[in-house]
Amino acid sequence: MTTADTITLALSKGRIFEETLPLLKAAGIEVTEDPEKSRKLILPTNRPDVRVVLVRATDVPTYVEHGGADLGVAGKDVLLEHEGQGLYQPLDLNIARCRMSVAVRADFDYAGVVKQGSRIRVATKYVNIARDHFANKGVHVDIIKLYGSMELAPLTGLADAIVDLVSTGNTLKANKLVEVEPIMDISSRLVVNQASLKLKREPIRQLIAAFESAIPKN
Ligand code: AMP
Repeated sequence: MTTADTITLALSKGRIFEETLPLLKAAGIEVTEDPEKSRKLILPTNRPDVRVVLVRATDVPTYVEHGGADLGVAGKDVLLEHEGQGLYQPLDLNIARCRMSVAVRADFDYAGVVKQGSRIRVATKYVNIARDHFANKGVHVDIIKLYGSMELAPLTGLADAIVDLVSTGNTLKANKLVEVEPIMDISSRLVVNQASLKLKREPIRQLIAAFESAIPKN
């Protein structure tokens, strides 16, 4: 946990940062430096007791779980892949929305292969989500863990299918891949450190209430 008189919020740059700003505003908090222009990793706000730390999206749960930050905003995808425990998740913020899907090359007969019960090679960064999904469907898969550019895997013959986040579908289209199966809707959640919740109860409760009042509707 960060010092007793400071609230530290962990965010990742990009969509999560941008879409969290209106929620912070509802709590009377404005980040006073632009992360796209500054190289700072700790950003001040108009409130001397509140600061934002910029971390990789996949590191947000780790920072919050171990007290490097009191709160954080992380995608459901990241939280499902995070192996830790003890994170309090009071709110689905309904931001940074997209879906997790299975995609293949347009000439790959996914339905046919599933029906035949053949093994499928699946490349993904989201190993836990993919494994659970195919286990629930009773489909045998070999999971190939990748850290980026999953779209390349079916194009090079590394895998038959990928499991990846899809928003507009443009990335798949540009790489001649087709979405064959949605797995789940994804949005970002507020996560809170358990000890902070007890020791900084009032400021954190106020922040949760303000965020809740400003959650975008569908
Ligand atoms: P799109 O081309 O709009 O379908 O976006 C797909 C690409 O953007 C994929 O490579 C995803 O990894 C990434 N992406 C889309 N939405 C999100 C999100 N909410 N969080 C993280 N990555 C995302």
